[in-house]
Amino acid sequence: MPELPEVEIVRQSLDKKIKQKKVKKVIVRNRNLRLKIPSNFENFIKDKKIIKVRRFSKYLIIYLAKDNYFLIHLGMSGTIHIVNNKLTSKFTNTSFYNSSTLPKKHNHVILIFDKFKLIYNDPRRFGFFQIIKCKLDLKKRFNHLGPEPFDSEFNFKYVYKFFKNKKKNIKSYLIDQKFVSGIGNIYSSEILFLSKINPFKKVCSLSKKECRNIVINSKKILSRAIVKGGSSIKDFQDTHGSKGGYQNEFKVYMREGKRCKNLGCSNLIKKKITSNRSTFFCNLCQK
Ligand SMILES: [Zn+2]
Repeated sequence: MPELPEVEIVRQSLDKKIKQKKVKKVIVRNRNLRLKIPSNFENFIKDKKIIKVRRFSKYLIIYLAKDNYFLIHLGMSGTIHIVNNKLTSKFTNTSFYNSSTLPKKHNHVILIFDKFKLIYNDPRRFGFFQIIKCKLDLKKRFNHLGPEPFDSEFNFKYVYKFFKNKKKNIKSYLIDQKFVSGIGNIYSSEILFLSKINPFKKVCSLSKKECRNIVINSKKILSRAIVKGGSSIKDFQDTHGSKGGYQNEFKVYMREGKRCKNLGCSNLIKKKITSNRSTFFCNLCQK
């Protein structure tokens, strides 16, 4: 499942490719994604120029003229492929998830531009497209979500206040989109390792210093992951044939049974599954 850094990488490649380009035709092969694609979707986008591609948390925001927008959410398994009319590269995926070349099945939405096509592929259909018709609605759309780790509102005061008298553990809050949005299993494990905090510690017992570290390290880990092009969990490549590199810097994620990377610690990394989510940690370094 893509987290904020991976969606940001998709945003960057989309912005480069489709900005200032006009959509000539829209084909919807299957409307039944997580949200049903409305019947006016094709007409809403057809003949419109893409102004720019932005992002909030894991939502891609496509700006059209006159305060019209549409959102793309990749869900669990959604990927966006760019296929040039003149086949210049076999790599079509704008992200590092799933197939690096266009799969034969599950291509649900196709936007046709002059020189290329944008194809939305999603085997599990948890992703969605959504039309938004004004700026206010765009703002309201994200009202239920907490700040991104990069927002200035995601600071010590916010975190400390949020955690007061709360009984759940820190891992469950880091992946709770109402608290902070964009973080999932990969980056929550890495943030807590860097912060030396046990993922199963109750948030009401975190010290001020620990709250501060969570803020600082969330920003640190996510911006580093973006610089490295996100994490390729499998050996896949993007439209340029390059791979994300952050997986080489994982300290705990997917390192169960391997030696802790902290100097002087020879403990083995543990993996614990709670409500179907894996958490990786060192039980000696993380208290
Ligand atoms: Zn350790």
